[in-house]
Amino acid sequence: MKMKFQFHILLGLAAAGLFTGCSKNPVTGKKEIIFMSKEKEIALGAESHPSIVATMGIYDDKNLQSFINEKGKAMANISHRPDLPYQFFIVDSPVVNAFAVPGGYVYFTRGIMAHFNNEAEFAGVLGHEIGHITARHSARQQTSQIFGQVGLLAGMVLSETVRGLAEQTQQALGLLLLSYSREHETESDKIGVEYSSKIGYDAKEMADFFGTLKKISEKAGQTIPTFQSTHPDPGDRRNKVDKLATQYQAEHPGKYNVNRDAYLRKIEGIIYGTDPKQGFVENNQFYHPELRFQFPVPSGWQYENSPAQFQMASKDGKSMMLFAMAEGKSLEEAAQAVVKNYSLQVSENNKTTINGNPAIAMISQQVAQAQSGQAAASSIQVATWLIQYGGNVYVIHGVAAPANFAGNLGTFRNVAQGFKSVTDQNILNRQPERIRIKTVQRDGSLKDALKDNNQPDNKMDELAIINGMGLSDKVTKGMLIKTLGR
Ligand SMILES: [Zn+2]
Repeated sequence: MKMKFQFHILLGLAAAGLFTGCSKNPVTGKKEIIFMSKEKEIALGAESHPSIVATMGIYDDKNLQSFINEKGKAMANISHRPDLPYQFFIVDSPVVNAFAVPGGYVYFTRGIMAHFNNEAEFAGVLGHEIGHITARHSARQQTSQIFGQVGLLAGMVLSETVRGLAEQTQQALGLLLLSYSREHETESDKIGVEYSSKIGYDAKEMADFFGTLKKISEKAGQTIPTFQSTHPDPGDRRNKVDKLATQYQAEHPGKYNVNRDAYLRKIEGIIYGTDPKQGFVENNQFYHPELRFQFPVPSGWQYENSPAQFQMASKDGKSMMLFAMAEGKSLEEAAQAVVKNYSLQVSENNKTTINGNPAIAMISQQVAQAQSGQAAASSIQVATWLIQYGGNVYVIHGVAAPANFAGNLGTFRNVAQGFKSVTDQNILNRQPERIRIKTVQRDGSLKDALKDNNQPDNKMDELAIINGMGLSDKVTKGMLIKTLGR
């Protein structure tokens, strides 16, 4: 959780979609109805960009940034639309993802940068994303958490009523996800092969990266990367892209680079996985070292930390809690915003203090409007705490259906009343895990080399995926591999 509040990211797409006209597609050369003028595309990108930055943050790495700028510009020049004002960014998310916004904005997560094993893999994905822009794929919107989080506590069955409020919260936060049709994805893969080959890279490596994506998605308990979930099956893509790359190289003989070592040296030290400064759970407490607060996570509950909020839910899915930064500068303003945004009918509203911090506690009910075709309106009960702390107002909601509310109120209260400042230096100074590039000291298997570098047994499978290899694959003396360290 980065706790920077923002609204309606990418909502501009809906408005921009109203304009239609007929023009030639720059990639296919076919006439088509387009939904956006070039000016509107550029305006849309410019409008969305600050929200993306506010939500995810930019990952600060000057060397890596200048590398993606250089390759991005080179590819823009050979693309079907060299006239767009392209910009390239690395966003501060551990999720393995890349995405593009019309108008020339291309984003890579630090998670995907850590998973590439050479420049050619990067170039293939870069070509795919630029392809969405140049082929003017009209983006669809999905209500979902942004970039890869599968909404609510992946895999959990939350009761309908409880799910309702969580979805509204996400809409209020404006976390909309762009996705493209399968046809557009296939077309972008093809463009990715062409563009990456044109700037001198071996597009077969792009095919191999789909192997990495497949392994990531198969790894149990992981959040499914969006790059994966909304895209065609990576196994199919791997084969198709490999064929296209082979064909391209046969038609255009030349030298196609991979640049493995050069890439690995560029990502030395990149943060891997969650960054503790964005919040983490340990010993049933959620800690946010940067904002210096903590609160308990009910024992046995599942949780999910995302850039905009922290969610928790009981295993039976009958109750859940949401924690976020509140809208509004004062407690009163924040309370009014909550009541309005969720159409709450407040039955209790008390001023209080929580561990010395000014707070408001509310109990309310939300009656959902009966949808056409649905028999009855459903309702949920909500316990809300607004807490003023460190110059911010935070909101904690406990949500349950009326039948389960009384039984959960004690749990909700314990969480809210457990909100307090963090002083433990061990928590405040927690360091993230980083990719460390090491030179293999002797011929052997990847596993041998990882063990030689004191990598823990329970991380072996993950390290194999990060290295884009199998544990029994051969490595030779002098080769570079990725390890994890602080
Ligand atoms: Zn795509």
